[in-house]
Amino acid sequence: MTVFGAGLLGALVGSFLNVVIYRLPLMMEAEWRGECRRLFGTATDSAATAAGLGLVRPRSFCPGCRKPIPILLNIPLVSWLMLRGRCAACGIRIHWRYPLVELLTILLFGYTVWHWGLNSAAVAAAVFSAALLVLAVIDLEHRLLPDALTLPLLWLGLLYNLRGGFVDLHAAVLGAAFGYLALWLVLQLARLILRKEAMGYGDLKLLAALGAWLGWQLLPAVVFLASCTGAVVGLLLLATGRLQQGRPVSFGPYLALAGWLALYHAEWLLRIFPVP
Ligand SMILES: [Zn+2]
Repeated sequence: MTVFGAGLLGALVGSFLNVVIYRLPLMMEAEWRGECRRLFGTATDSAATAAGLGLVRPRSFCPGCRKPIPILLNIPLVSWLMLRGRCAACGIRIHWRYPLVELLTILLFGYTVWHWGLNSAAVAAAVFSAALLVLAVIDLEHRLLPDALTLPLLWLGLLYNLRGGFVDLHAAVLGAAFGYLALWLVLQLARLILRKEAMGYGDLKLLAALGAWLGWQLLPAVVFLASCTGAVVGLLLLATGRLQQGRPVSFGPYLALAGWLALYHAEWLLRIFPVP
């Protein structure tokens, strides 16, 4: 019953996560354009400035015709299935990403309560999962891991572990510092040897956040797993011609997946990559 309730909450939260995934990159772009305008005094406005787009306002609208979506047609998952993935007003296709994010959030929240029970650990784990899901999707689409998400995730991890939530504070602080430092070193080495940017600073902040939640002990396993899955997926995409050679792939989704596994199933990861 509680699992069912958590799934229901997941549907509502998933619907909000879709809003964040769609609007946050647009809001960041609008902010960058604003900064450029202040610096250079040039008018570089675009539709993306989107008349004061925020996370809460305006109400949900169709990305095609920009008509607000009536509340009755804004039921997570159900509406998309009923309308066969089209906007009721203009008939434009609504991307399958929307129902997929909702479905994943339902499964994540249900699984969280099933796994942890109904307690503060479950609430924290649900927040962690939701943030990672949003980061993974935004990185896949925009190759961007917004500070507005990675940094609060880092602070939340440290705060939750202040009194030994998932790991003790000592391990959490070292995890945050080592997470950033480890990828920073990789980045510098890649610059020196390969003369290219191996990843963005968002990846460094994401691994720091994961370290704050998981403790330093799990970081080697997380990086190892993320690199392996990233490499396998990258090779598959290359082989099927869906990725051009030399084009960088986003690392964030693999870090997110490995970090999620590490919080829920540390014992699996430590079996692959034991820490003394
Ligand atoms: Zn429409």
